[in-house]
Amino acid sequence: MSKIKVMDELLANKIAAGEVVEKCASVVKELVENAIDAKADIIKVYLEDGGLSLIKVVDNGTGMDKEDAKLAFMRHATSKIYNDNDLFFIETLGFRGEALASIASVSEVTLETCDGNVGTQVYLKGGKDLRVQEIGTNQGTSITVTNLFYNTPARLKYLKSETTEANNCLQYIEKLALSKPNIAFSLENNGKVMVKTSGSNNLLKTIHEIYGLNVSSNMLEIKAINNDFAISGFIGKPSILKKNRNHFNTFVNGRIVKNNEVNRAINDAYNTYKHEGFYPIVVLNIDVDPTLVDVNIHPTKQDVKFSKIDMLTSLIYQNIKKVLYQNLLVPKAYYDDEKTQIKDNFIDMQDFVIPQNSEEEKEIVQTEFNFNADNSSNVVIKNREFKNLKLRPVGQVHGTYIIAENEDGMFILDQHAAHERVNYEMILKKVHDFQVSTTQMLIPLNIELTSSDYQNILEKKDILASLGFKIEEFGLNTILVKEHPTWLKTNQEEESIKAIIDLIIEMGKNFNKDKFLDSMAKMVSCKMSVKANEHLSLDEMEQLLNDLVKCDNPYNCCHGRPSIMQYSNYELEKMFKRVM
Ligand code: ZN
Ligand code: ZN
Repeated sequence: MSKIKVMDELLANKIAAGEVVEKCASVVKELVENAIDAKADIIKVYLEDGGLSLIKVVDNGTGMDKEDAKLAFMRHATSKIYNDNDLFFIETLGFRGEALASIASVSEVTLETCDGNVGTQVYLKGGKDLRVQEIGTNQGTSITVTNLFYNTPARLKYLKSETTEANNCLQYIEKLALSKPNIAFSLENNGKVMVKTSGSNNLLKTIHEIYGLNVSSNMLEIKAINNDFAISGFIGKPSILKKNRNHFNTFVNGRIVKNNEVNRAINDAYNTYKHEGFYPIVVLNIDVDPTLVDVNIHPTKQDVKFSKIDMLTSLIYQNIKKVLYQNLLVPKAYYDDEKTQIKDNFIDMQDFVIPQNSEEEKEIVQTEFNFNADNSSNVVIKNREFKNLKLRPVGQVHGTYIIAENEDGMFILDQHAAHERVNYEMILKKVHDFQVSTTQMLIPLNIELTSSDYQNILEKKDILASLGFKIEEFGLNTILVKEHPTWLKTNQEEESIKAIIDLIIEMGKNFNKDKFLDSMAKMVSCKMSVKANEHLSLDEMEQLLNDLVKCDNPYNCCHGRPSIMQYSNYELEKMFKRVM
């Protein structure tokens, strides 16, 4: 029986012809997705000159019989999509009817395939001169594409350099491998292996194979569910940020997708855990009833739309925040000498565990490599342990850093970052308090504004009043501030109030209450916190340490800078060669 059905003409016309193939990576994508559809679990991609000279995809899938092998190059032949409705379902990868025919029409293609019986070789050039012969070959399919766009010079000139084409293919295979940890992928360019995964069906291991040890050992597991969505995967600790969002790997029902709202939810969840302009590595699977997903009909685009998007983004946002909050994130200053000893072998877990100094650390590493769904009990212990860290101040360096100690080792804190964190969380708590305590200003503060700014501020009068700022109109375009909340630092009241008014004006039409409160808390906490080059007494340092360990996120200032670093006893001993 032929597995490939010829697609209904009407459906075929909906698929934009020729737009499928625009670069080497799109050829790789189509061929690899065919291999996945053929149930392959080993897929090898070979490139020459980034694919400009040759693209070859070899799989161990079901293969085709002679009839299917010939049909594969017919326009609109597909084994995946049977009717119009299926196109809107994301469970299938494919819009493949068009692809192979399109690729064949602009290149030279050799297909070798075997369904377990007789092997078949099909050769075409420019989609014509079909030659078919019987050959001996293993089960599976191998497709070789050479001379891409040889007969369409206009397209040929849009191909990029070898490096760019190779990197595009690499990025695609990496994402695909993360979406399918059960499939062993490899990609070679000019005989050099660019990426190789083992198909272990272990996502963390796949992350290791793609990103390396430093990343895989700094990923936190995430798993959550609500009525419509289930999310699972790993999120990177803020210690391993990237400079762009390319590492937001999001999959819907196993398919690579892009959705701006989802990306925003991920980024927002890291608020204050990282600097702006830096992005976490995230591998997130979203499982959902396909009827809630609207796939962009354009076959090369990965954009999707969700019904009930708010349910999804809040599930993602809340749970990333929760995972970050629950995990110990004090960056450890490791002595680098060890790096050479870490073998690149995932199977042996011992190699993974960077020398330990305490049972607790061992537990953390194991928790992260443990795929039990519910490790919340471990998590709670870890978090409580941080809250109970008894840090004793030892002294101050350059009036900027605090050195502290406990039984486990030495800690270095940036005093401004630490104090800013304490004040930031204090202010956020106060502004969300039901009861506001205010102070009357000795001399009411009057602020003159332009008439549009004046209107803008008056519109926010109620919001400001709920925070404890009592504002009155005072003549032409002038406001009078009579009361302010008690949390404003003494002697900084005027400066802070003016900065808060400026902040509202700056936000203008984009005013959003939550964003405003967050920005205000960041700004005021920075102003009121101890600066660098300020002397602190031991008592003041102790107070700061005690306040910091009580914070929800003690590890960063509100702008994402680190506030505390740890040198464990073991690291110190290693540095001074007390242990070898
Ligand atoms: Zn600051
Ligand atoms: Zn800061």
